[in-house]
Amino acid sequence: MQKDIQALQQIIEDLTALETSQPVLEPKSAETLLEQLPIALGEEGMEDMEVYDLLKNVLAETPRTATRLFFNQLFGGRNPKAVVADMLASFMNNSMYTFKVGGPQILIEKELISQFQSMLGYDGDPGGTMAPGGSMTNFMGMLMARDQAIKDVHNEGVRTKMTMYTSECSHYSLPKNATFMGIGRSQLRYVPADETGAMKTDVLAQMIADDKAAGAHPFMVVATAGTTVMGAFDNIQACADLCQDSGMWLHVDGAYCGSVMFSKKYRHLIDGAHRANSFSINAHKMLSVPLSCSFILVKENKHLYESFANDAEYLYQTDDDDLNPGKISLQCGRRNDALKFWTLWKSIGRSGLEKMVDHHFGLAERARQYVMDHRDYQVYSHANSVNICFNYKDVDPVKLCNALYEEGELMVGYGQFHDDQFVRLVAVNANNEEGDIDYFFKKMEAFAEAHYDELKK
Ligand SMILES: *Cc1c(COP(=O)(O)O)cnc(C)c1O
Repeated sequence: MQKDIQALQQIIEDLTALETSQPVLEPKSAETLLEQLPIALGEEGMEDMEVYDLLKNVLAETPRTATRLFFNQLFGGRNPKAVVADMLASFMNNSMYTFKVGGPQILIEKELISQFQSMLGYDGDPGGTMAPGGSMTNFMGMLMARDQAIKDVHNEGVRTKMTMYTSECSHYSLPKNATFMGIGRSQLRYVPADETGAMKTDVLAQMIADDKAAGAHPFMVVATAGTTVMGAFDNIQACADLCQDSGMWLHVDGAYCGSVMFSKKYRHLIDGAHRANSFSINAHKMLSVPLSCSFILVKENKHLYESFANDAEYLYQTDDDDLNPGKISLQCGRRNDALKFWTLWKSIGRSGLEKMVDHHFGLAERARQYVMDHRDYQVYSHANSVNICFNYKDVDPVKLCNALYEEGELMVGYGQFHDDQFVRLVAVNANNEEGDIDYFFKKMEAFAEAHYDELKK
């Protein structure tokens, strides 16, 4: 293994050098990549050094998501401690279903969950677990909501029309999950958003009442803490009031910006979170942990058992359920997604995570000020969003983002809200500084000016 570790070190050094000299890769088509890289698999193996050379070449052609010019999606940057811990998790290869196989790694996951529970303000007997991604933790929240709403539905299946409610700006995992859970996509009702992108809760109340009157069974509201395009926060208190009155389950999709719970300054954006029955959060977005690192927290632990517990004599042979997270898991084998986050937290402390969250909002505010101060821009974002949505002059945002990508200038994407389409600059790279935001605009403006005729609407 000694030689492999040396090769690893060399590959990492080469890649980081490339990332510095060329932070954005000029994309190649799939056909070109298949011609240039020996991706096809064969019968015979290769020499070690050939394998590592090949890996190095593949990495060199892979989009660079950790550099200061990646603003395309809701993650970015690279934290060395978290990366090392993630590599060690692969090195050890424990499956996180039992204490017998995971040992202290299980305690590490449990510690993270208990920290989240107290930050949320869950008291009594709360629960929580990890799943591979926010789409899956949302799925778990939806399944628990379904199972508590109708007696024996997890044995007998869905036989009533069960309706659930979420913002028109919520994540696309919700309709997908609605099909998986057997209630059907069209039983997911979309509530209109106000001009900031937050769900109109008065309309929500009316929709629930109308559905009840029509004989449906409204069972769940999903509020979003940080919508994917506008970065908006739904009013959790108002949703909790409605749910409390009508016995509905409230899930908060905090996959993107639930991390504001770490910040004294921004915690108010999820006021009322302790009233939610379940809450999803991704540490791989605002908190710089490598993909994926996703948690679901549950106000009452019993719901995890009611929806997910199955016995398996060949697996659960020692210890209490409490130490065997596989018992309440969506999967069987569970990757160790906890060690990397725990290591980061040990390294910078809770206060370091708080600074990271505040830093993102600081960068976003700088970007928002910039676009508000310059007459060439139209701004769509509101305060307290880490996504800055804007248009430059009469440049077409789709053409602009695609051209920036194809020319290897910047990785940034576009989005849409109501009738407006715009560039969406995402400020969640903890390695970035204010100068990187300024550089983004300078580079984008220079590019737009140089290609103005092709890019204008
Ligand atoms: C990213 C995101 C998700 C999905 O999380 P994955 O880990 O990508 O599956 C869900 N909801 C919101 C609001 C998100 O931003």
